[in-house]
Order: sequence, then structure tokens, then C-alpha cells
Amino acid sequence: MRMEWTPEQDRLRHEYEELARSTVALRAAECYQAGTLDHHSWETLTECGFWRLAVPAKYGGAGTSYWDFVAALEGLASGAGDLGFLLSVIAHSGTLRGLVEFGTDCQRRRHLEPLMAKAIASTAITEASGGSDVARIRTGAVAVANGYAITGQKCHITNAPIADIALLLARVAGLGRRDITIFVIERTTPGIEMGPPEPMLGNRTSPTGSITLQNAVIAADEILGSIGNGLEPMYSVISHDRVLYGIVAAAFIDPLVDQVLRFVEQRQAFRSPIAEHQYVQGRVTDLVILRDTIRWVSYGALGRLLTGHPEASASCSVAKLAACEGLCQATQHVMAIFGHIGYMAGPISRAAADALGTRIAGGTAEMQRKNIFHQVVGRPAKAQEATCHTGFAQT
Ligand SMILES: Cc1cc2nc3c(=O)[nH]c(=O)nc-3n(C[C@H](O)[C@H](O)[C@H](O)COP(=O)(O)OP(=O)(O)OC[C@H]3O[C@@H](n4cnc5c(N)ncnc54)[C@H](O)[C@@H]3O)c2cc1C
Repeated sequence: MRMEWTPEQDRLRHEYEELARSTVALRAAECYQAGTLDHHSWETLTECGFWRLAVPAKYGGAGTSYWDFVAALEGLASGAGDLGFLLSVIAHSGTLRGLVEFGTDCQRRRHLEPLMAKAIASTAITEASGGSDVARIRTGAVAVANGYAITGQKCHITNAPIADIALLLARVAGLGRRDITIFVIERTTPGIEMGPPEPMLGNRTSPTGSITLQNAVIAADEILGSIGNGLEPMYSVISHDRVLYGIVAAAFIDPLVDQVLRFVEQRQAFRSPIAEHQYVQGRVTDLVILRDTIRWVSYGALGRLLTGHPEASASCSVAKLAACEGLCQATQHVMAIFGHIGYMAGPISRAAADALGTRIAGGTAEMQRKNIFHQVVGRPAKAQEATCHTGFAQT
């Protein structure tokens, strides 16, 4: 488990925090109003080599250790002040990770370089029938002469309106019970259409929408992992995304703590700074406790994920649950401390609305609990295989 950043990781953390302050944070309100991803900041990140940190050097990346990327991400999350942008970053990095871990050499050669440069990625699981119960997905793939013809529709997919590449979950006809397969799909393939951004309460800077496939033919060598065995790579990508929610949430709370500490000293009520009132002190300390709990649980879970610990999936669910429930509580504390100023349209109320979305994205709180329960009670191997990692059941 990581305890301290190395000097190089510390440097990366500060570099990306500064970068986020000078790009993402300055543009957040405008992009939120427009309901668009901050493409300018995304390009700046790309030019600085941010995505290369997530990829080992042997595949064209710069990463010596995945913790380098995590240090940079933590800096980014600390300076960005825009949770939507960070959700898009997590979705993109999940696809990168999936290709690094499970891609064939050919897939890595074809997709990693564009994804470290300009291309944007999604992971598409959810359909209108429901996101928690993966067994209900209906998107189907039928073998044809030159690959698989896929038909179906995904919805609520982060980055879909702007994505160039996606990892997409479908069922392959004729395989029987174990038919769930991941395909690497590209926007330019005939028969694939990315929908417009869905109107959401928050996270408006993270374009989220549908992917519709109508007999879109995907080559057989674009299957990630092996045919009918899509759950393993999907579990891995999902666990990775979940723990990054934790890394991001704790770092996002960092500057809120600083703002709150300044505000409670300046703001007067009943002839003293509000910092002197015990109920206010309680909120400030809860904010710090939430941040530190999320941070250390997430470091531990990531350490387990990277070293293949048998309970890594449950730890990632614990981190995700702590992060998203904690983020909601933290933003409520900040709003309460700032009073009406916090409730007005602006960064604090925006963060509170954005935080609510993190409770649903990446699996709901109930699904994290289900996953933790199945791992902890040590269900028989077969049942565990079917449900343990995501709380999703394949029946
Ligand atoms: C901001 C945002 C970004 C997203 N990005 C993506 C993405 O990139 N890719 C993607 O595939 N999806 C994405 N989603 C969709 C998300 O993964 C799903 O919304 C989520 O999995 C829940 O699915 P659902 O909304 O269909 O709710 P349902 O699955 O229909 O569940 C409805 C309610 O029932 C509860 N429930 C269901 N089953 C059980 C059970 N067995 N026990 C207890 N409670 C249960 C759920 O917890 C929930 O409260 C995103 C969602 C949001 C909000």
C-alpha cells in the first residue's frame, strides 16, 4: 500500500494541480453553462502527456508505475473544481486501463496511441432496461462473415456524445449462458450513432448519452478478452473506475477544506467568527474526517487492485461507497457553512448537484453493498463468480 508520494510523484501532483487551476477551474462555469466538455483543457492535458502516465512505457506510455498517473490525477482533481470534467477523465482512463490489461497486441497498437493523443473513450454497459442488473442487457451480436453484427442501444454513457472509441458490452447469439462479450467499437463504423448529451441535474461538463448500434459490423479481433468472457475485463474496468472515484473525491474536497477554513474565520455571527461556534466546528471536522477516510480507503483499495489481492473488488466498492456518500455529505457541509452564498448558483451548489450523480454512476450504493456482502460472506465459487465483483448478476 502506498504511504507517501515519491518526490517525482509529488512533483506530478503539484504540476497537474497548477495546470488544473489555470485551465479547468477557470473555464468550469462557462462550460457548465454551455453543457459541454472543456475540450480546451482536455487538449492541454493531452499535450502535457497526462494520459501517457496511465500507460506502461512498453506500449508507448510514460508510466513507470500506475501511481504516477494517480498522483497526477489527484493533482488534477484538487485544482479542477469541476466534478463533471473529472467523471469524463475517469471514464477515459477506465478504457485505457482495460486495453492495457486485456487488449491484444494488435488492439493496443491500434487504440492506445489515439487514446493517449486526441481520441476520447467511453465504457458502455447500461441500457434503458436498467444498469444494475447486467443480465438484462439486450444488445446482441450475431456472427457474420467479417465479424459480428451488433444491434442495440446503450444509454447514460459518460462521454458517449463525444467518444471516438468505446468498450461495449453485448451478448453473442448462440453461446448459451456465458454470452457476455466486450467489443471495442469506433464511432466511425457504419451503423453506430452517438446520441446528444442527456439533460442531467449536474455533471453538465461530462457529456453523457446514448450509443445506438444498428447492424454495426465489428471485426472479431475487436473482442476484448475472449468471446463470452466479457465479465472479467468488465469487472476489472469497473473496479478501477470505482477506486478512482475515491482518489478524485478526496482530492476534490481538499480545496473545499481550505475555503471553509478561511470563511469560518472571516464570517461573523453573534459577535464572533463562526469558527468559534461548536456546531460549525463539527461540520469542519466532519469535512476533514470524510476527506481523510475516503483518501486512505482509496489508497488501500488501489494497492489491492494493482497487486491482484483476492478482496480487491470489495475494497474498490468500499472506496466507491465511501467516496460518493462522503462527497455528498461533504458538499452539504460546505453549503451549510456558506449559508445562502453556498446555495446560490456557483461552484458550491454546482459541486453539490454533481456529487449526487456520483452516487449512481459506476454502480449505486446498493450495488456496492451487494458486492461487498458477496465477497465478505464468501459465497460458493459459482455464485461468487456470477455476482461478486460488481453486484451485477449474470443469469
Ligand atoms: C453521471 C452518470 C454517469 C454514468 N456513466 C455511465 C457510463 O459511463 N457507462 C454506463 O454503462 N453507465 C453509466 N451510467 C449509468 C449508471 O451506471 C446506472 O444508472 C446505474 O448502474 C444504475 O442503473 P439504473 O439507473 O438503470 O438503475 P436500476 O438498476 O434500475 O436501479 C434502480 C434502483 O434500484 C436499486 N436496486 C436495483 N437492484 C437492486 C438490488 N438487487 N438490491 C437493492 N437495490 C437495488 C438501485 O440501487 C437503484 O437505487 C451513468 C450514470 C450517471 C448518473
